[in-house]
Amino acid sequence: MGEYRGLAADLGARGKRGAMRKGLFRAGVAVLCFLSLCGAGHPQQKSKLRGYITDPARDNTIRILDDVLTYSSGTDFEMEGGGSFSAQDLEVGLLIEAEGTWSAKHQFTAQKIKCDRDSFDKVIRESVFLSEDPPTAQAADGTEPFRLRADGEILLIGAAGRRSLPTASAGGDSPYIGRRVKYTGTRTAKGEMEVRDTEFGPPPPADAFEIPGDLKVTEGTDPQTGIAVLEFRKGNKVQGRMKLFPVKKVQQYVKSLGAQIIPPGGLKKPFPPLEFRFFVIESEEVNASALPDGTILVNTALLALMDNEAQLAFVLSHEIAHVMQAHVWRQIHETRTKRVLITIAAIAGSGYIGSLATFLGQIGIAAVVNGYTRKLENQADRLAVQNLLDLGYNPQEALRFFRVMTDRYGFRSTSAIWSNHDSMLLRGSFLTVQLRRRFPDADYARARVDTEDFRAMRAAMGPVKIQ
Ligand SMILES: [Zn+2]
Repeated sequence: MGEYRGLAADLGARGKRGAMRKGLFRAGVAVLCFLSLCGAGHPQQKSKLRGYITDPARDNTIRILDDVLTYSSGTDFEMEGGGSFSAQDLEVGLLIEAEGTWSAKHQFTAQKIKCDRDSFDKVIRESVFLSEDPPTAQAADGTEPFRLRADGEILLIGAAGRRSLPTASAGGDSPYIGRRVKYTGTRTAKGEMEVRDTEFGPPPPADAFEIPGDLKVTEGTDPQTGIAVLEFRKGNKVQGRMKLFPVKKVQQYVKSLGAQIIPPGGLKKPFPPLEFRFFVIESEEVNASALPDGTILVNTALLALMDNEAQLAFVLSHEIAHVMQAHVWRQIHETRTKRVLITIAAIAGSGYIGSLATFLGQIGIAAVVNGYTRKLENQADRLAVQNLLDLGYNPQEALRFFRVMTDRYGFRSTSAIWSNHDSMLLRGSFLTVQLRRRFPDADYARARVDTEDFRAMRAAMGPVKIQ
């Protein structure tokens, strides 16, 4: 739309310089053009597409999952933040944003391709809270190289480079679990992470695992109707309610699956004690969310769109990762997210929460519903995939799920769906690249996909509304 507005402004300026009649005439023409362009149909409408390149460039095309982007000599290439970038630089794993038009389903003509500078850089810089010990004890001044499973990666901590190892505490607690490690490294052909620098830091503070605003989530019943609900309470006062899905079999299945897939480190000291709880909320919004205290909510609409247990295990693992990695706390303290004054106006009162995002926005944690920064979402997806593999599930089901969701919702840029700010395409393409790079030789043929219990749960669920 920008260029049309530019044209109108230009015409306005000419009008002011005189030649009133000519100006009016031209303006009239401009209005007609504007309407006819708009009326030309949606395929010509300018759109944006964002994602990681999943296949090598061929014949002036690149692919992001199923979407084929065509570029030409007229396409503008731009590196965000300055620097040179051209068609020769297009490679698998690069995060791009393309502007252009859809010519058919999955066919996109790019007028402009912007590249994210960070994804161009081969050096990976991440920060993660550890949930596992290294396989063998390491002396604090040790110089032996060792492997550490962290962040959904295998970190190869070498003798070279700068490193500082944590020291064991007097209480005999693990010196690793719960601690934070910042690392810088590059990926090897085998998929491991050759780490150059490591820096160990303290675990998140205990209040990183509390809901801001002194809120607690408890199970209760609506006094008027007697239906089972989840309540946000401040002291004894109910601040808002959410309707629990009334079919017991569904609640029990999600609870028991959730309990089985919590990574063991999530419960160990000195990681702050976490109590995970899993609930199915009756809602037509396709979403799942995790509160900082370990309360994980899955909406019926999302559950209904899933094909198998591996997909649900992925979604739950993703939410568990947000909790264990204290993403609410990190998003508040490490990004330029505006801190919000913690004041819960009792607008929901004892009534039902219309929008969980708006409700949580009041205490500054709308990200729980709307999605975190790309870096944190990617970390949750990386950890979720690792968890699936550890449990013997097929991680490709996560990709299949993103493809289904992309087809269903991927073209809408504003909707209240799961992580709306990072589209399904963005996350699906990230995981595709991550899986190939991290596990280049993996064979998932024997990995678990579905169970009888999942099918029984789906049958018990019956039809539900999906937005
Ligand atoms: Zn997320």
